[in-house]
Amino acid sequence: MSKICLCLTAKTLERDLEILEKYRKFIDLAELRADCLDPDERFHIRRFPKMAGLPVILTIRRVMDGGKYKGHEGARITLLSKGLAFAEADPRQNFAYVDLEEDLDVPGLEEAARAFGTRIIRSFHDFNGVSSDIVQKLRKLCRVGDEIAKAALMPKSLDDVRLVYQAARETKGIEKIILCMGELGVNTRILASRMGSHLTYTSITGEEDFPLAGPGQLDPRDLSGLYRYRKINSKTTIFAVTGFPLMAPISAKFFNNVFNIENINAVCIPIPSETIQSFLRFGEEIGLKGASITVPYKEAVLPYLSDWSEMVSDIGACNTIVAERDGWKGYNTDAQGFSDSLLGFTRLKDLRGKKITIIGAGGVARSVAAEVFRLRGKAIILNRTVLKAREIALPYNFAWGGLDSQGIKMMERFTDIIVQATSVGMEPDTEKDPLEFYNFTGREIFMDLIYRPIKTRCLQRAEAEGCKIINGYDMLLRQAKYQYNYFIEKEFPASLINRVEI
Ligand code: NAP
Repeated sequence: MSKICLCLTAKTLERDLEILEKYRKFIDLAELRADCLDPDERFHIRRFPKMAGLPVILTIRRVMDGGKYKGHEGARITLLSKGLAFAEADPRQNFAYVDLEEDLDVPGLEEAARAFGTRIIRSFHDFNGVSSDIVQKLRKLCRVGDEIAKAALMPKSLDDVRLVYQAARETKGIEKIILCMGELGVNTRILASRMGSHLTYTSITGEEDFPLAGPGQLDPRDLSGLYRYRKINSKTTIFAVTGFPLMAPISAKFFNNVFNIENINAVCIPIPSETIQSFLRFGEEIGLKGASITVPYKEAVLPYLSDWSEMVSDIGACNTIVAERDGWKGYNTDAQGFSDSLLGFTRLKDLRGKKITIIGAGGVARSVAAEVFRLRGKAIILNRTVLKAREIALPYNFAWGGLDSQGIKMMERFTDIIVQATSVGMEPDTEKDPLEFYNFTGREIFMDLIYRPIKTRCLQRAEAEGCKIINGYDMLLRQAKYQYNYFIEKEFPASLINRVEI
């Protein structure tokens, strides 16, 4: 089983131990990053394994490999030797592993490690992407058979990450640690066991004096709790949430919590991708069963579907894909999620007699327009790109306009309900307001489909004027329950409604 390793990056051994104690139950071993210690503290590293009481990796990472060690190479080698010296008969009191970079050539150090049962991790770091000869590289990395090859790579794209999964598959027989750094590599840290990686590295979050040991590292609590790392095996079904940029996807948390409560062997992973094509290629490589498609791919995904639901073809947007024998099948759950949320909030049965403004003409606005039409409301669609508003409005006989003073004037007759369906005001650009020209009267029902932040600037303005307001969180939950039906091919358990934390 692939182990969970906590990287210890404090300035003192005492602080490292304090953190270790706090996280002990979530991890299998620790990496002492001696390069992060104050110089005086480094003299005492030899004592650390005994104090830690679990297997420890000794690492003194150079700046060129992403570490903090700036001293002479000779002094670093001396420090590594001191860490391994005076070995105890009880191997638990020695370092269990030592991380030696591929270019480090000190036979004496390696012999000492072997003599005392300290395993050598032969590491290779590349911050410039994933080279096409990564398989050969991994094969050549270990000088002696008992070494563990380690490759830590900074991918430039999701296609790079795909190459790493391929390389892991092609080097199945080699004992290794393999991972991608950065946001694009988070999935490799969660799926380490599927890649045949000896371990996965984690870092704690939220402690100022304890910097992340590597970009994209997860907190061990999230890895063990949210992603149920220890339960991931060859039978685990993999789901994903994709988009770009992908901000803290709440729906991944939702699905993981449901899988946990329902004891379903599945995991949902946030996988940002710069293009939908790379995401789909990547999905095929890792055997993805389904995915939630978010901004900006709800329309872009359509040409790559082999089949789609009637709703997808009516609306022209897809937010859910499921792998079928002959390709990806697309569904739309935004539409039902939107109307369930709006009707639940307003306690209306339908939108007969209501005049509605829809701001935006992207993927989700298509679903909103279709539902407003189905529920017999009348609407105007305003969008920055007027042609897109027109394209959505025409089939429903809705009005349309631009997101400017002229458009705002036109919307005066459509203010029973306003639905904000652009991404303007979403984190991190929370200062932006797509309706800055519009003064709320206090009589409007205002629904902003954004859920991060909880209250956009626009939503705050509407609230201040006395409007009834709702953000997109409720819709998100409701549409995720429909997604669950497609992913798991079961109804969302009624007993879980209001029980799932996200
Ligand atoms: P999308 O397909 O990328 O569409 C983005 C929309 O925002 C388009 O109308 C676009 O106008 C507009 N826009 C982007 N930047 C703009 C700017 N600087 N000024 C004016 N307009 C701008 O995205 P989507 O999938 O429709 O999602 C839109 C929002 O809805 C996102 O914030 C998303 O989080 C939220 N959403 C929420 C839920 C939920 O369950 N609550 C579900 C889906 C989406 P142009 O056409 O002119 O580019």
